[in-house]
Amino acid sequence: MLEQKDVVIIGAGAAGLFCAAQAGQLGLEVLVLDNGKKPGRKILMSGGGRCNFTNMYTDHGAYLSDNPHFCKSALARYTQWDFIDLVSRHGIDYHEKTLGQLFCDNSAQDIIDLLLKECEQGGVELRMRSEVLSVEPNERGFLLQLPAGDIQAKSLVIASGGLSMPGLGATPFGYKIAQQFGIKVLPTRAGLVPFTLHKPLLEMLNVLSGIATPITVTANNGTSFKESLLFTHRGLSGPAILQISSYWQAGETIAINLFPELDIDGFLNSERLEHPNQSLKNSLARHLPKRLVECLQTLNIVSDVTLKQLSIPQQQRLIEELQNWQIQPNGTEGYRTAEVTLGGIDTKALSSKTMESNQVPGLYFIGEVVDVTGWLGGYNFQWAWSSAWACAQALAQR
Ligand code: FAD
Repeated sequence: MLEQKDVVIIGAGAAGLFCAAQAGQLGLEVLVLDNGKKPGRKILMSGGGRCNFTNMYTDHGAYLSDNPHFCKSALARYTQWDFIDLVSRHGIDYHEKTLGQLFCDNSAQDIIDLLLKECEQGGVELRMRSEVLSVEPNERGFLLQLPAGDIQAKSLVIASGGLSMPGLGATPFGYKIAQQFGIKVLPTRAGLVPFTLHKPLLEMLNVLSGIATPITVTANNGTSFKESLLFTHRGLSGPAILQISSYWQAGETIAINLFPELDIDGFLNSERLEHPNQSLKNSLARHLPKRLVECLQTLNIVSDVTLKQLSIPQQQRLIEELQNWQIQPNGTEGYRTAEVTLGGIDTKALSSKTMESNQVPGLYFIGEVVDVTGWLGGYNFQWAWSSAWACAQALAQR
C-alpha cells in the first residue's frame, strides 16, 4: 500500500528538524528524510563543537540576499528570544562569547537533543540514509520515489541546505528540485570561508601561520568588520576574514587596517619624543605581533629606520599603508571549508510569510537552501529556526 504523509521534509539539519517538530506539534503527520547516518551533522560541528545557536542582536541587516527585505517577516515572527526561551526550557546552559553570540556551555549535542526531543513530542518520524530518487507532482501533492518504496506527501518541504562541506552530506538536491519545477536558483558561491593568497605573498606571509591580530577589514563595496585576522599556511582566516569573504567577489582587493583602535599618528609622535633612537620596528611591535612587523619590513611597508629618521611625509605614507593594507586574495578555500553557501533559491519565487513557492502550491523551501545568508555569529541558525517556524505555521493551515 502507498505510504501517505501530511508533510515530507527533506533534510534533517537545523531547519528540517525544527520545522518537523513544530509541524508535528501542530498535529500534522510528518516524515523527515535525510541522506546521512545521523541528524544534525552540521550542528554538531558548529561553533567549535559548542553550537553558536543564535545571536542576541539578530536583525535583517546581518543577512545577505538579493532581496534584503525577504527575511524580515520570519525573523520578526520567530525571534532569537523565542529560541533562547526554548533552549532555557530544555535546561541547556549557555553563554555569550562575544558580540551577542550565544554558545552552549557543554556541547552542540545539547541542541541536537533539544530538536530530537521536540520532534518526538510532535510524533515526527525520522528516516536516515534515505535518498529521494524523484519527485513528481500529482493531484494529491507530491509522489516521492525512494529505493525502499514510494511515498505520497500532501506538502513537501525542502530543507536540504547548501553546498558547503560536502563531507557532511551537502548536495545540490534543493536546487535541482527548484529547477525541475521552474523555480529560479541564483548563482551560488562559498561564504564565511578563508582566503587563499597568490604564491609570492603567501610565501612571504607563511612564517606568520598561526598568528592572530585584531583588524578592521573592508570590502570594495564599503562593508567592514572589526574582528580578528588569523594568518594560516594557506592564506588568511579568522572571524574578520570569514565575514568579509561573503562580500568579496573574485578579482577584488580587501583593505586591512592593522590598527583599528590606536591613534597611530599620536602614538608614533610620542614614541619619537620619548625614544628618538628606537627603531620603528620595535615601536610598532608594541602594538603588533613582532613577526608581523618583520614581515611588513620584508614587504617594504615598514622601513628599517629609527624614529628620529622617520620623516613626517614617510610617517603619513606608513600610516596609510598600515591602515589601508590592500590585499588581493587569489580565491577562497571553496565549499570544502565554507560555513555557508551564498545564493540559492530566489526569494522572489517564495512567500516571505510561509516559505511556500508562489508557483507550486504545497512546495516549501527553508534554511540555507534559500538565498538568505547570515553573518558569522549564530545568524545562520537563527534563519534556520525562523524560516522553519514560519513554514510549519503555514503547513498547519493548509
Ligand atoms: P543543513 O544543516 O546543511 O542540513 C541539510 C540536511 O539535508 C543535511 O542533514 C544533509 O545531509 C541533508 N541532505 C542534503 N542533501 C540531501 C539529499 N539529497 N537527500 C536527503 N538529505 C539531504 N551557523 C550558525 O549560526 N552558528 C554556528 O556556530 C555555525 N557553525 C558552523 C560550523 C560549520 C563547520 C559549518 C559548516 C556551518 C556552520 N554554521 C553555523 C552554518 C549552519 O550550520 C548552517 O547555516 C545551517 O546548518 C543550515 O541549516 P539547514 O537545515 O538549512 O541545512
